[in-house]
Amino acid sequence: MSAAILVLEDERDIREMLAFCLEQAGYQVSQAATAERALSMLKSEPAPDLLLVDWMLPGASGIDFTRKVKRNTELASVPVIMLTARGDEDDRVQGLEAGADDYVVKPFSPRELLARVKAVLRRSGTVSAEKEAISHGRITLDLASHRVTVDQELLHLGPTEFRILRFFMEHPERVYSRTQLLDSVWGQQVVVEERTVDVHIRRLRKVLAEAGVENYVQTVRGTGYRFSRMA
Ligand code: CA
Repeated sequence: MSAAILVLEDERDIREMLAFCLEQAGYQVSQAATAERALSMLKSEPAPDLLLVDWMLPGASGIDFTRKVKRNTELASVPVIMLTARGDEDDRVQGLEAGADDYVVKPFSPRELLARVKAVLRRSGTVSAEKEAISHGRITLDLASHRVTVDQELLHLGPTEFRILRFFMEHPERVYSRTQLLDSVWGQQVVVEERTVDVHIRRLRKVLAEAGVENYVQTVRGTGYRFSRMA
């Protein structure tokens, strides 16, 4: 499943060059030459994963368009990268204030653009085209569908247990204390008791046990927990 990107740029050569680069990199691309056209596409089609918006457009500007998108509750979470010939700090600030998540100053190289696109998609939690699943032994965790399977059998995990398992599978064979798990899985802003970690680990193990793979999540006495294939 590749990410979908809508390119809004009035200059045809640039728009087609952008579409070509993005398609070569594996993205699904749709194109619009005006803000009005892009808005009508957003109303009639499923929301893309990213909007690439040129600042200078005939009619409504890229800034106006971005403000409209960010005020729309259904579209507000779609990240926006602005393309601009204007590198001034004031202009950049104006773009970011309108709700743009990042900007690329023209002229830019395809490589630079792709790096920005990838970074913004990663930050927004959209799965990158190349990494869709993590597998360790009999367990496979699908990042796009949020499904966990053991020998192709689907497990029923709660959202927190899914996040813990994902963190473990991304960092196998390493021991994490309860505090480290709280920071990594719940985030540092959230105030949760360390005991909460034990509760969710217990739930995770219960589901894993039903599939016969509870040994992957190990207690390291006096330290914390570890995900290991060497059970
Ligand atoms: Ca333009």
